[in-house]
Amino acid sequence: GNQEPKNVSLPQWFNPRARMDVDTLTPWSAPIIWDGTVERSILEDHYKRKNVTVGLTVFAIGKYLDKYLKNFLTSANIYFMPGHNVIFYIMVDNISGVPSIELDPLRRLKVIPVEKESRWQDISMMRMKTIGDLIESRIRHEVDFLFCMDVDQVFESYYGVETLDESVAQLQAWFYKASRRVFTYERNPESAAYIPYEEGDFYYHAAVFGGTPQRIYNLTRECYEGIRKDKEHNLEAIWHDESHLNKYYLRNRPSKVLSPEYCWDYNIGLSYEVKNIKLSWLPKAYEEVRNK
Ligand code: UDP
Ligand code: MN
Repeated sequence: GNQEPKNVSLPQWFNPRARMDVDTLTPWSAPIIWDGTVERSILEDHYKRKNVTVGLTVFAIGKYLDKYLKNFLTSANIYFMPGHNVIFYIMVDNISGVPSIELDPLRRLKVIPVEKESRWQDISMMRMKTIGDLIESRIRHEVDFLFCMDVDQVFESYYGVETLDESVAQLQAWFYKASRRVFTYERNPESAAYIPYEEGDFYYHAAVFGGTPQRIYNLTRECYEGIRKDKEHNLEAIWHDESHLNKYYLRNRPSKVLSPEYCWDYNIGLSYEVKNIKLSWLPKAYEEVRNK
């Protein structure tokens, strides 16, 4: 059921009542962006006047480079923030493997070499450290907003300025209707990512997070600190960086939440609420891309 916005002053561009079939506000009154709830032209004008630049970080290490980067970038070039300045930050362990793609004039691509961790879990978790370092050294001077995404997905339709905000979290497609007891949070009290069964708002997906560079800096530093502490105690959270991300968002609630239309998994099948898929997971040939 839809929550009626009580005593909340809603932004002009947001119409939560346009979707009565889903929750469009979080309990702390942040918008949950579902297709149809946004007056896009108001936002387009606003961000165009501000001449915003949006960054997008993506890692393509080892086999993920050949397998996913080209489709990710080709589709992002078309659908990610069309009409606005975009800088793609591509982290690779093999610069010569980066495909050459003809980009829209408003897009720039920066390739950043990184060391390859040997375990896939560490590749995934170390993104938190690398993103934090990069925000500190350059990204904060170069963009107004930043998104950080997995590479094993593809854009399918307009993914635009309606997603921009101070701190933006993605609902994990498999859990958006689930109750908190079944969320796959880290349940070991010894871990920095621990969340007890009676706490938690949503299960967020680490394949997409965004916000201002300052807010993402805080997020990545805190998640990395948790990962590091766990390693010191010989622990690893059940879903790695995602477990720490969920802990972070529980303590620092996002100012905007994206519906599963913004990161859908077709393995779920189709769902009545999911009207317009903007980004979707690609099938993972685990034996092929993961050695360990
Ligand atoms: N990644 C990578 N090479 C690897 C493992 C991971 O580049 O060998 C990056 C890539 O961007 C990937 C992300 O880390 O999308 C998260 O890993 P993965 O997508 O395998 O995690 P899952 O979505 O299955 O939880
Ligand atoms: Mn992934």
